[in-house]
Amino acid sequence: MYVNIRGYIRERNIRRLMVEVGYRCWHRGWVAANDGNISCRLNDRVVLCTPTGVSKGMLSPAHICAVDPEGNRLSRGKWRPTSEIKMHLKILRERPDVRCVLHAHPPYATAHAVAGIPLDRCVLPEIVIGLGSIPLVPYGTPSTDELPDRLSPYVREHDAWLLANHGALTAGEDIYGAYHRMESVELYARILFIARGLGDVKQLGKKEVNTLLSLRGAFGIKERGNPPGIGLNPSR
Ligand SMILES: [Zn+2]
Repeated sequence: MYVNIRGYIRERNIRRLMVEVGYRCWHRGWVAANDGNISCRLNDRVVLCTPTGVSKGMLSPAHICAVDPEGNRLSRGKWRPTSEIKMHLKILRERPDVRCVLHAHPPYATAHAVAGIPLDRCVLPEIVIGLGSIPLVPYGTPSTDELPDRLSPYVREHDAWLLANHGALTAGEDIYGAYHRMESVELYARILFIARGLGDVKQLGKKEVNTLLSLRGAFGIKERGNPPGIGLNPSR
């Protein structure tokens, strides 16, 4: 897929990072068997992705597949691109700022997706600043056009999504950007679960939320995750 030595080294590094992050997802119990998938934009013409039918804990760089931005397979050999590639390409096409997309089934985030509970309340400062709200995308059959279609209204305004009755999805400017967002979503969902068990979840007030949002510029975080009517909702 590469055209020169720098391209070769870059692709080799990306493949290595995809293997590393796949292993981390498996090791943390965010995927079972062959669950989960990772994609990364190599350039305008090539997207690298994990294969279908391989555990994310057992990936090697040679497993990584390549498709074009329309999803046509570019790589040859035994391994076929993830069946969820349409969902990844939807985000990569509509978000030039995103290079990598990660999908997994981390248990606390997925439990919220199964229970139909979006992570859209203002509770933890780091989440308000970094992610804003994490919407619940209505259910769509995996691997079909339903899932990217249902995702469509949320793609531009968020960097993390819950997929109803399915799992979680994050986007990043690089592989670890997407991974760290998944880590934040899962820890946040876990904290909310524990707090509910303790009796209550105290939400931040509108004034505190606005103060936090005003800090985003200082942290270099783009204004995302709080569109009118969907995102942050301090009154809930
Ligand atoms: Zn899945």
